[in-house]
Amino acid sequence: MSALEELYQDLILDHHRHPRNRGACAACAQHARGENPLCGDSLEVGLTLDGERIATASFDGHGCAISQASASMMTEAVAGRTVEEALALGASLRALLRGEPPAGDLGDLQALEGIARFPVRIKCALLAWTTLEQALAATLGRKEASP
Ligand code: ZN
Repeated sequence: MSALEELYQDLILDHHRHPRNRGACAACAQHARGENPLCGDSLEVGLTLDGERIATASFDGHGCAISQASASMMTEAVAGRTVEEALALGASLRALLRGEPPAGDLGDLQALEGIARFPVRIKCALLAWTTLEQALAATLGRKEASP
């Protein structure tokens, strides 16, 4: 298996070919746009919240296979989780991609592990998560304001 084939594992390829939750989200209250100029990746993430919980997550955009597959995987991973859980999951993925042991169970996101060996691709894989964090920032701001 070549390094590139190893990087583009089946699960990543599947998300790239059949992206989940893709499309502009008119109903989403939380939106953010993220860019990775190094690669030309561009993503928009839309969320609907149900109290503390992320009810739905969607993405739209264009870019390399890793950025799009990672965004598709992100939308599936965070739907139904609380904001805190989603942020913790993002932190665990960051640790994994730095070659550190992740703090929590990553589920399908573990498939992105191979990207740790391709530093130039780490930004591609994390773009969906940094954009998610931006989309949640307004919500977090409100929470920090109350004791
Ligand atoms: Zn990329």
